[in-house]
Amino acid sequence: MTEAQRTPLIAGNWKMNFDHLQAIAFVQKLAWMLGDAKHDFDDVEVAVFPPFTDLRSVQTLVQADKLPIAYGGQDLSTHALGAYTGEISGRFLKKLDCTYCIVGHSERRYRHVESDETVAAKTKAALEAELVPLICVGETAKDLERHEPSAVPANQLRGALLDVKPGTDFVVAYEPVWAIGSGAPATPEQAQNVASVLRRVIAQSLDEETAAKTRILYGGSVKPDNIVGFMKCPDIDGALVGTASLDVDAFASIVRYKKHATY
Ligand code: PEP
Repeated sequence: MTEAQRTPLIAGNWKMNFDHLQAIAFVQKLAWMLGDAKHDFDDVEVAVFPPFTDLRSVQTLVQADKLPIAYGGQDLSTHALGAYTGEISGRFLKKLDCTYCIVGHSERRYRHVESDETVAAKTKAALEAELVPLICVGETAKDLERHEPSAVPANQLRGALLDVKPGTDFVVAYEPVWAIGSGAPATPEQAQNVASVLRRVIAQSLDEETAAKTRILYGGSVKPDNIVGFMKCPDIDGALVGTASLDVDAFASIVRYKKHATY
């Protein structure tokens, strides 16, 4: 599979924003705007990652109105069921027809001290629940002082793929931590360099075919005015968008990047 055959994915990570009523209003408006603009969802896939408490409402809306928008959880438990107060099972997300689940977001790794082992266990738990894990990797500014840019993300990805079999469907998001929420994105060249190393890691950990079909997203201060630069990179197949995913005009504009690209 080549770059041209991988369907780009524009994914919005809402983090802890929007209650279920705001979620419904947002998804309705997004679907209306993209529908009005005749967006081809088979050409560029769209997904949102609302807080857990919004997922049932998003599911009801998406199914009632047959909206071509995918959704997923922002995290999941390493366990399937049991005495784990406050945790959410991948099975419950699957029951709400989630397609995806983010694992290893830097805010989980650093604020909740999630290790590479935990991220590997969450990746496994997502796959066992038949969810597509969206595995986030990325280096901090401190890591960059000590290592070359791809060293930490490549190691994190190797760790996350320990229990993954060749042919498995998963998505990788390269998110330099220093670029998240900072307004200072990586350059497309920086992102492409790391993404190409990550594709090689997939080939080495699994196989060439899996590496060729896996979508690698860039995340970190993506905005309507910089998305095109990232999407021109041969190893970047979409974006994981934080701040700009909360503004429906900005997010719809990012989804419609081909309309403002001059290729
Ligand atoms: C993120 O946290 O995944 C992210 C990419 O955030 P932002 O777009 O705000 O940098």
